[in-house]
Amino acid sequence: MKTDNSERDGIPTPPTGDMSAEEFRRHGHALIDWLSDYFTNIESRPVLAQVKPRALVEKLPQAPPTTGEPMEAILADVDQLILPALTHWNHPSFFAYFATSTSAPGIFGEMLSAAFDVKALLWRTAPAAAELEEVVLSWLRQMLDLPESFAGVIYDTASVSSLHAIAAARENLNLNIREQGLSGRTDLPLLRVYASEQAHSSIDKAVIALGLGQRSLRKIPTDAEFRMDADALARAVAEDKRAGLLPFCVVATVGTTSTTSIDPVGAIADICEQHKLWLHVDAAYAGSAGIVPELRPLVMAGCERADSLTLNPHKWLFTPFDLSVLYLRRIEVLHRAFSLVPEYLRTPESETQGVRNGADYGVQLGRRFRSLKFWMILRYFGHDGLAARIREHCRLARLFASWVAESPDWELLAPVPLSVVCFRARAAKDGETDDERATRLDALNERLLHAANSTGSIFISHTRLNNQFTLRLAVGNIRTTEEHVRRAWELLNDTLKTNL
Ligand code: PLP
Repeated sequence: MKTDNSERDGIPTPPTGDMSAEEFRRHGHALIDWLSDYFTNIESRPVLAQVKPRALVEKLPQAPPTTGEPMEAILADVDQLILPALTHWNHPSFFAYFATSTSAPGIFGEMLSAAFDVKALLWRTAPAAAELEEVVLSWLRQMLDLPESFAGVIYDTASVSSLHAIAAARENLNLNIREQGLSGRTDLPLLRVYASEQAHSSIDKAVIALGLGQRSLRKIPTDAEFRMDADALARAVAEDKRAGLLPFCVVATVGTTSTTSIDPVGAIADICEQHKLWLHVDAAYAGSAGIVPELRPLVMAGCERADSLTLNPHKWLFTPFDLSVLYLRRIEVLHRAFSLVPEYLRTPESETQGVRNGADYGVQLGRRFRSLKFWMILRYFGHDGLAARIREHCRLARLFASWVAESPDWELLAPVPLSVVCFRARAAKDGETDDERATRLDALNERLLHAANSTGSIFISHTRLNNQFTLRLAVGNIRTTEEHVRRAWELLNDTLKTNL
């Protein structure tokens, strides 16, 4: 049923056209009830959306509604059309990519932030956002035991955090690139950034976006455990310098995307110090584990020597997407790279009063009030509560890895330092050559991946390690228990039996 905009459900709409307070309260209660049911019943839904491409487009009208529709009709369509087309990241059997999930205080934080709808560009446009950001970043820095000199900025994603970190590293060269740019300059050699072969593609995208070009990114080989080979880095930097290139930045990864391996940050920091290179640490996933005291030496060793470090609370601190943190040892370099204040944004408050204008620290002008949801999460769970969950996820991953290691039908393909297991089925067959075996196992494991995911009971993902098709099981969802991990193992074994 369509309505005109003057009245809904017998209640006159206020002249502004938005819902009346009464209506807002009623629909708000209904929505919370609906969400509560969603979480209670989430396991009855397939974790990976079992829909064909474009199925949703075909079900929705091609043209926009001319007159407003009742909220009930809109929510009914969320239920009937949107839900089936969702892959449920909050499903406790979501084990793909990095299994990330939201949490109740985080959802409430998002609701409040949407309601306040501030644009945190200047301190005065959102003093609470500017100051709460400073406070939560200080709390998180203390939880990670990083030096006090590290000041942070909140962005949307690690891709954007790393882009800003490399932009700061470039600014730190004092080559007037901010003013002159890179194109058409004959006074500059090729600028070099280094990252391991296992680094995330966001680093490639950062050098593309910054106009450095992909040829400026030199990929350093990794060791048998997928960690950057620091000696190879030292050789590469020396070779590039001899060739007249200008090395300026190294990206170390703490928790690589495929295997969660941890680059030797201390050894890399030595090389950076020797050659005066900016050290950026991409700890998008594993950085969160730095809040767990017994994991901190593994995850954070050497990070206190970094010039910048990014980690994503939206990955493993139960924060609704999106929220990424970038810490910098000298945040003024980032300010130098991006501060640009047109007349219409000048304000009487200044940095000498301890005021920070968010727009001075990045590409964006308006910024969301992201710190609110994170503050609520930190307060609701506390440091100990968050650490306990990460600790448990690592235990569950080790447990799954022990089943793989003990089984004649499966094998581990990488160490399990944190909460991701890389493995494959290795069913034997007599009389095969090595090449035949490799091809058969790749095909078998790819079949297993799709067969397991198409059941809707679990969702796992894959990668390629040493040119072998590799299954990945990532634990990280706040609702995942030992029972879910056990069921995943049983399902994989059942799937193997029917796919041999
Ligand atoms: N860096 C690493 C190591 C990652 O694993 C990922 C994503 O998984 C990213 C960066 C990109 O994260 P985002 O989606 O926040 O840009």
